[in-house]
Formats: sequence, structure tokens, C-alpha cells
Amino acid sequence: MSREQRRMERLRKKRRRRTILALIFILLIVIVGIPFAVSHFSTDVYQDADEFEKYADAELDKYGQFVPDGDAETEYAYDSPISYAVENGSCDDESIASYRDGVLTKLRESFSQEKTAEEAERAEKQNDDDLRPLEHAMLIRTGVFSAERGIRSLVIYRADQVEKDKEMVQEASAVYAYNFYADTGRQLLPQQIFTERYREVCAQYFSEYFPKSYKEEELGESWKDFISASENNYNKFAVTDKGVTFYFDEGTVLKSSYGVVAVGMTVSDLGGTLREKPIYRIVDPDKPMVALTYDDGPGGKAETRILDCLEKYGEVATFFYLGNRVSGDSENVKRAFDMGCQIGNHTWNHPNLSKLKEKEAVKQLTDTNAAVKEVTGDEPSVFRPSYGITSDAINKASGVPVIMWDVDTLDWKSRDAKKVFKAVKKKSSLDGSIILMHSIYDSTAEATELIVPWLREKGYQMVTVSELIKYKSGHEPQAGHVYSGF
Ligand code: ZN
Repeated sequence: MSREQRRMERLRKKRRRRTILALIFILLIVIVGIPFAVSHFSTDVYQDADEFEKYADAELDKYGQFVPDGDAETEYAYDSPISYAVENGSCDDESIASYRDGVLTKLRESFSQEKTAEEAERAEKQNDDDLRPLEHAMLIRTGVFSAERGIRSLVIYRADQVEKDKEMVQEASAVYAYNFYADTGRQLLPQQIFTERYREVCAQYFSEYFPKSYKEEELGESWKDFISASENNYNKFAVTDKGVTFYFDEGTVLKSSYGVVAVGMTVSDLGGTLREKPIYRIVDPDKPMVALTYDDGPGGKAETRILDCLEKYGEVATFFYLGNRVSGDSENVKRAFDMGCQIGNHTWNHPNLSKLKEKEAVKQLTDTNAAVKEVTGDEPSVFRPSYGITSDAINKASGVPVIMWDVDTLDWKSRDAKKVFKAVKKKSSLDGSIILMHSIYDSTAEATELIVPWLREKGYQMVTVSELIKYKSGHEPQAGHVYSGF
């Protein structure tokens, strides 16, 4: 090989090496660059409004367990990187629909703000102003349950999604539930739907339900806190004809990966704590209030007439029952209770308790408690001794607040509606008063028909004795404590 030939050969080799290097370089750009470019400009899930709608529809279908079946309308807002879709189940009540829309607007605004801030923070951390924000989507399904007992329950289920490895994954889920009185569309609080005892019944039920239905490793770390009878629990629920569905937030009773948990309790599971009809009355602490009280019942026809009158005006009273009469007139007892009237204990058969041995006196109370509970599912929550005669020991043994009065109508003596009405009108201010009557006389029923509209006209609201104590003393009523008006 000549020198010239060797030089040419070297040059060829050098050129080939250069070509290979260039090829490798190009290949490197392709390998690294394409995914970089893709991740900078798109996800695989949806890239326009049409694709987002299709995707949202498929996802929303999965949330059916939280809302009732039926017609629905879906609204989409594809606005990369923060998109939104909501499927509203039919709602024929305007005030509930407008309440729902208000909640949705707030959720949407806070979601948008939160995600915008999150992305800004991410860009700052990576020191890249041009960093493509991740796609975010809030998908919502709403529906209204309609129960025969006069309650509408609005449920809003929400899933937040975020882009991860070009897929959309669920980041968080939440449920919101609101209850309304069907006739008026007014919002109801749990105490208007359930009796006081409901959280205890739920706590008992779910303390057995969760360990039975899930493995220990599936339960949230402090799951017991979220099923206790605390006032923080059992506030999210929907009422149906079968019973009540309770919602537990993500990461509470079960590990976060299970999302929101919905569990139904039947009416019988709830053990009489679900009211037949909700109480739609709400106490206004700033308005004068008075507690009507009726002893010696349940009082047959006279009491039915009193209840008719209270119901007509949407007012309540407190009934102190004699245990031995309860099973014979359970209709009035149940009705008073379901109307949101307070039920009190007035002994078994009206003895002078001071003449009984303590053990016998206590039995007068416990037997009456049992008789009432048999009918309403709840023991009487206040006590009024027969003849107003009692002792510290009996008061303590009653286990509930002891209620006297400050306005005695002497209705048992006069048996005259006008005289009873006059006795009530005599006191200059009745704000904070406890008025004593008896639900066994027709004359008292007639008097009630005069007193209730008159009190309303004078600006009074009628409350239970426990409500009166709570608002006038500023404290919950205390067991064993004697109250006689404010
Ligand atoms: Zn009495």
C-alpha cells in the first residue's frame, strides 16, 4: 500500500467514526428529546374538549353508588390545565337546586385557586417558568334523595384527579351531604331529623360493622375516633325510604386508598332514633321564648286536641307522662315525640314520693322510663315529681333535669278555658317562663287553642323545657338540677 493509499484509508476511517458519532448524537436527541417534548406538551388522556368530555363521562359513571339513579345533566369546562365536569341528577326543588349551585361554585373556585397555586409552587421549585403545568380535573356528581318522611337529601360526590405518568389518577375524593325539609326547602340539622340518642346508636352499630366488614389492615389508623358518638361524627348522611346512608370521609374509617365510604343503616338498625317526620322548627335565641308543659297524660282525646293545635302552628310543648298510662295511649305519646315535643317523667302512678321508700320512689321513675322507651325508643329526658314534691336523693336518682314551673294555671281546679288563658296573660313577661297545665282536660285543650295563637301574636316562640334552659341559662340542662323558669 502506498503512502497515499494509507492516508486515504485513515481519512475514511476518521470520516466513518465521525458519521457514527453524529448518528449516536442524533439518536440521543431523539431518545431524550421526544419524551421531553411530549411531557412538555400533552397527556395521553385528553387533549381537547371532546376528549375531556368522553373521559369525564366514563369516570362519572363510576360514582353512581353515592347518588340516586335517574335523569342527569352534565356540564363540562375543559380549560387545560384545570378542567371541571359536573353531572347533576334531577332536582325539582328550586331552593335545593340553588343551594347546590352555590356549593358547586365555591368548590370550583377553591379547586381552581388551589391547583393554580400548587403549579406555581412546583414551577418555582424546579426553577422553570416554562414548566408545563400538570393537568388537573375536578369531577363531581350530585343527586337528591327523596324520602317519604318529608326529607330531601342533597349529596355531592367529588373526585379530584391529577396527571401522573401521562395518565389521570385520583388525588382525593370527598362527599358533601345536606338535608332539607321537603315542604319548605329549608335546611335541616341532624337534631331535627334524629333524636338525641342517634349518635350513640350509630357508634354502637359501626363499632361492630367495620371490624366485621374489613380486615384490620384496611381500617384507618384512628378509625374509632370517626365512629364515636362525638358531635363531629354522623353529620354527613342522606335519608332514604329504607333508612339512612352515612358518609365517611377519605382516610378516616378506612385507609385513604378506599376513598369516601358510604354505609347504609336501616330504619330498624337506627332503633327508633330516626324521627317519623323532621322537626322543622328552629329556636331563635334572640326571640322571647316560653315552655308550655302538660302533666298527668297521656291524656286521650284532650291531648290529641292539644297536639293538633301545636301541630297546626308548628309549635312544641313538653309532656310529663304517668308511666301507667303510657301503653294505653301510646298513639299520643308517639305523636308528641315525633312532633319534637319533649317527653318527661311524672312518676308511674302519681304518688307523693316523699312518703315512699327511696327504692320504691326510684322504681316509679325507672318503670316510667321503660314504658316510654317502649313506645318512642327514647327514655324521658326530664322529670317532674307528682305534686312537685321531691327530695335531693330522688332528683339525683332521676338522672335527668328536674322541672318545676313559674306560671301555675290551676287548670285542674277551674276546668275553665277562659280562666286558664287569663292565668297565662296575667304575667307581664313570659319570656323564660314554664307554664303548668294538664293534658287530660277538654278545658285545657280549649285553653291551649287560645294560648298558642295569642303567644305567637305577642312574639313568643314555644320551646321545649330543655331548649328553654339551654338558651336562658347558657348551659346544657344538668341532671339532678331543679329548674323553675327564668
Ligand atoms: Zn301531676
